[in-house]
Amino acid sequence: MKARAQYRAFIDEHVMPVEERLFREDDEAEALLLDLRARAKAEGLWAPHLPPEAGGTGKGFLAYADLNEEIGRVTWAQYVFNCQAPDAGNGEILHLFGTHEQKERWLKPLVEGEARSFFSMTEPDVSGADPTGLRTTAALDGGEWVINGRKWFSSGAEGAAFGIVMVVTEPDADPRRRMSQIIVPADAAGLTIEPVPILGHRGRGWTTHCEVTYSDVRVPAENLLAERGAGFLIAQKRLGPGRIHHVMRWLGQMQRAFELMCTRALEREAFGSPLAEKQTVQNWIADSAAEIQACRLLTLDAARKIDEGGDARVEVSLLKFYAADVLSRVIDRAVQVHGALGLTDRSPLSHMYAQARGAHIYDGPDEVHRMVVSRRIVQAFADGDGWSFS
Ligand SMILES: Cc1cc2nc3c(=O)[nH]c(=O)nc-3n(C[C@H](O)[C@H](O)[C@H](O)COP(=O)(O)OP(=O)(O)OC[C@H]3O[C@@H](n4cnc5c(N)ncnc54)[C@H](O)[C@@H]3O)c2cc1C
Repeated sequence: MKARAQYRAFIDEHVMPVEERLFREDDEAEALLLDLRARAKAEGLWAPHLPPEAGGTGKGFLAYADLNEEIGRVTWAQYVFNCQAPDAGNGEILHLFGTHEQKERWLKPLVEGEARSFFSMTEPDVSGADPTGLRTTAALDGGEWVINGRKWFSSGAEGAAFGIVMVVTEPDADPRRRMSQIIVPADAAGLTIEPVPILGHRGRGWTTHCEVTYSDVRVPAENLLAERGAGFLIAQKRLGPGRIHHVMRWLGQMQRAFELMCTRALEREAFGSPLAEKQTVQNWIADSAAEIQACRLLTLDAARKIDEGGDARVEVSLLKFYAADVLSRVIDRAVQVHGALGLTDRSPLSHMYAQARGAHIYDGPDEVHRMVVSRRIVQAFADGDGWSFS
């Protein structure tokens, strides 16, 4: 069986039937999730975002885009197959930048699914959209980094074994060389973690978004990832792939919302005919089909370019804001076709709707990605080269 079909069969058989119970995010849901993870791992459906040399089963971005059409259908599936944010991105940077010892200590248990992690960059007191102003510091003292500051929206921090924190280590350097990334065990003295409830999740362990305070937190000097001042470079390596991974999953969400919309439009009658025969609903179906297919083709194009060694910076930014809009629009139309049912826990659409809102903000707000796309294209014209996507 093809890999995509294997993932689809697993999700249809094991995940879809318990989706509503997983959304309760209680003890039973946690036990169910652990059970599903063990089963997925035993079947070799595991860590498909990472290449085999990093301990995963991945075969590149294009192949991963294909799998995510299935994985993305159910928000819980990423946890089942151990490719959830932020562990996926942390695994990638540990694989790319970690020393042998760091990989053994932090990456291995992450890929094995024995530990979880968080990525601590955004701060409450300064703009996350413009991370050059981040304030959390780390200074070397007797062979140890001493970290002080406050972060928030560190996803998954509750119950995680460690985090990767973005800190100012070079205060006098150029703005893009001021930061470094340091690995911090979650049980370090002086570190506190407090979940901040957020739209779309009851919030427990995996799905928390946390405020993390660092008060004289001391970690060994060798916990530095790559060299001093490389924080932004690593962040770009992490966030570029991370953004396209999000969009790949959103495609699964869009497609599912679309299928739910079409099915309901056929089944439900009003004013003497099925909703599918009303012009407005037909427009929603046609527009959604066009927009989803556009996102799919943009995703495949960017994935191919990354597989070929490019960073596809413009392509990924363009995709991030465009796909977030399509995701919101398609789910919204599907909710509307379902009427009040679409707002209840009896339909997955209510959860999908709530979770889609964050897509416009996390890993860079829409406006910043529009700015990046526009700046790069205009610069190419200013340089006399013009712009082409080929
Ligand atoms: C579900 C979720 C998960 C997250 N997970 C993590 C995580 O694991 N780790 C982490 O460190 N962070 C995480 N974040 C934080 C996220 O990355 C930040 O929220 C994001 O970068 C924006 O930063 P901010 O919230 O400080 O908004 P601000 O920087 O305060 O921006 C507010 C608004 O200003 C506007 N704006 C900003 N710049 C411009 C511009 N140039 N032009 C026009 N308008 C502009 C935008 O509308 C933006 O939404 C998460 C956020 C969410 C919602």
